[in-house]
Amino acid sequence: MRRGGHEVVVYEQFELGHTRGSSHGATRIFRLAYPEAEWVRLAQEALVGWRELERESGQELLLLNGLLELYREGVVSSQAALEECDAACEILTRDETELRFGVSPAPDANVLFQPDAGVVYADQALRAFARGLDIREGGCVESLDDLDEPVVVVTAGPWARKLVAAAGIDLPVVETRETVAYFRLAGPVPTVVAEVVTRGHGFYALSDPQYGLKVGSHMRGELSDPEDVRGADPDLVREIAEWTAERFPRAEPEPAHAESCFYTTTDDERFILERHGRLIVGSACSGHGFKFGPAVGTRLAALAVEALSS
Ligand SMILES: Cc1cc2nc3c(=O)[nH]c(=O)nc-3n(C[C@H](O)[C@H](O)[C@H](O)COP(=O)(O)OP(=O)(O)OC[C@H]3O[C@@H](n4cnc5c(N)ncnc54)[C@H](O)[C@@H]3O)c2cc1C
Repeated sequence: MRRGGHEVVVYEQFELGHTRGSSHGATRIFRLAYPEAEWVRLAQEALVGWRELERESGQELLLLNGLLELYREGVVSSQAALEECDAACEILTRDETELRFGVSPAPDANVLFQPDAGVVYADQALRAFARGLDIREGGCVESLDDLDEPVVVVTAGPWARKLVAAAGIDLPVVETRETVAYFRLAGPVPTVVAEVVTRGHGFYALSDPQYGLKVGSHMRGELSDPEDVRGADPDLVREIAEWTAERFPRAEPEPAHAESCFYTTTDDERFILERHGRLIVGSACSGHGFKFGPAVGTRLAALAVEALSS
């Protein structure tokens, strides 16, 4: 399909919707709330892009029912950055949080509520992005030299580092296998980012259309090779279940399902979006990349157009 006047071919080594990389599953957190204004602005830009994709595809891709940020005294919350970017937020008491959302913060936690947050329906978003594209499933690119296209955009997730290394590009990322668990819970769930530390957070929870609640523990996975296919880490599932029982007392305590998923992470959780001649490298994960998809895609497309015209 011609996008922006250019012919695009997508090579996918497996099939769309496969579960070996970073993008599978029904939902990912969407949030504006970050302690740094630059991330808030990028999320605001992405929100405009998601709404545009919803209009183009005729599908609802976002469920925005708010975010609770649970943080202890002394930790930099998202409040100042949100205010700087004119995004609404509200400080709640723990009692209000329990009453309004059925979420029980830790006894020493402060609570910030931000309404422009919730989930992006990840599987539907991937289908919406894929509409009309020429996608070659089962099309593993063994070497970037095999492609004669004038411009190649590499967004190979946990496989990217090895793929671009052969082209002389050193990608400063590590790949870890992370664990998420699902719990049965009726009723709407706000997104929760909890036990927030100065950069990042401990646990997170979000709505899942099948079970009700999806919960993970951020950046706890071991360094792994995506060729080594394995499931969830049982020790992490146990920790996640203990945290869930404390914060979501109405959820069923036993996980209904658990799975693994790959993070590809830089040391400061930033994304790599750069051009090396005809190669454009997009490594936008660090465990928080999905929500920025439309904004990241726009930047990669601009780099590709620049490469075409140089
Ligand atoms: C447990 C977990 C929870 C997360 N939660 C959130 C969240 O709540 N909010 C958020 O914003 N983000 C979240 N993220 C991060 C987000 O999911 C990732 O940033 C995003 O999915 C990265 O997508 P990607 O396209 O870079 O990688 P991938 O989804 O892995 O896609 C890369 C694709 O390239 C293909 N490929 C690789 N090598 C080749 C080759 N040689 N030839 C052909 N095809 C190839 C792979 O098969 C794969 O399909 C989470 C990630 C995980 C793992």
